Amino acid sequence: DLSLFQPLPAKYGGRHTVTLIPGDGIGPELLNHVREVFRFSCVPVDFEVVNVNSAMTSEDDINNAITAIRRNGVALKGNIETNHTMPPSVKSRNNLLRTSLDLYANVMHCQSLPGVQTRHKDIDILIVRENTEGEYSSLEHESVTGVVESLKIITRTNSLRIADYAFKLAREKGRRRVTAVHKANIMKLGDGLFLQCCREVASGYPDLQFDAMIVDNTTMQLVSNPEQFDVMVMPNLYGNVVSNVCAGLVGGPGLVPGANYGKDYAVFETATRNTGKSIAGRNIANPTAMLLASCMMLDHLKKSYFFSYVKNLCLNCKCVSSLQLHTADIGGQGTTSEVVQSIMKLIQSKGQLTTDL
Ligand code: ADP
Ligand code: MG
Repeated sequence: DLSLFQPLPAKYGGRHTVTLIPGDGIGPELLNHVREVFRFSCVPVDFEVVNVNSAMTSEDDINNAITAIRRNGVALKGNIETNHTMPPSVKSRNNLLRTSLDLYANVMHCQSLPGVQTRHKDIDILIVRENTEGEYSSLEHESVTGVVESLKIITRTNSLRIADYAFKLAREKGRRRVTAVHKANIMKLGDGLFLQCCREVASGYPDLQFDAMIVDNTTMQLVSNPEQFDVMVMPNLYGNVVSNVCAGLVGGPGLVPGANYGKDYAVFETATRNTGKSIAGRNIANPTAMLLASCMMLDHLKKSYFFSYVKNLCLNCKCVSSLQLHTADIGGQGTTSEVVQSIMKLIQSKGQLTTDL
């Protein structure tokens, strides 16, 4: 369970209600497949669907979604498109959601999957990304014509809490090493503070090895020798870049799930938060990342039986190296629904629920 010290969300009659935000692009179709698999597997979760319209300039929709998450405690979401041509006052809905709910820790587990051909084997990295400040503070202005200031905010409080999250997670998961990723040689004050906070927290975890690596070297090390990494902790924008590199290493954006945790709420989505507009509605998107995100959610809800059950189903399908069962992004010829159908067949062939697939 990657969610640490959170209250258990509301539960009625043994079932959980979870907010479902379909989002744009491939979000709605992927989430429909999750619902299908949940229904087939008798997972005791009900979804409250909240649509957010990215074309609107008003923030009413996203505020409704935030209220729904406050009520249910947990959400599963697709990515909401951010139109770059909108005025700067129109903020990313996804970012607004994360900051409003103070979902300060973005966690992604990047692991080599059986049955997926990749250049590197044996990758097993936990990436912990500060999710609320840094370069994502949405504080930009044109001070004089032709000069833009974009503020990167690093605070001691938030750096300490993300570092502490990373070390606690590392200890809980039986990891050995935590690497802080930074650029303190250039951003001496901002990244310097982040690094200093990581060092301070590290001193309270003598059982864990701590080291620091500059972000440029990190990306080079990742593409040449990724097996060396264990747990990584970093500010917001580096987290965005590094998590995309890592997703690519294990097979791409269609495979890796991600979670956003705060003190009170948790929101699950695909790790690289893609809209996938160009492949939407064509039945070709890989459903694995969203299905695994739903598994992280079941883990968070302490539905350990259903967590292992659904996760085994997804991974089992990846093991079958049949081209019919792989979508195009991982070199196959299968469609999204063929992958989901093969999961359904696995459920049926087993007759009753068992984690021993
Ligand atoms: P963004 O939302 O950041 O613009 P895109 O939606 O353009 O990102 O996604 C980046 C790339 O990843 C695209 O080529 C897209 O087709 C691919 N991609 C994203 N999600 C999936 C998925 N689930 N299955 C297959 N390809 C995917
Ligand atoms: Mg795009």
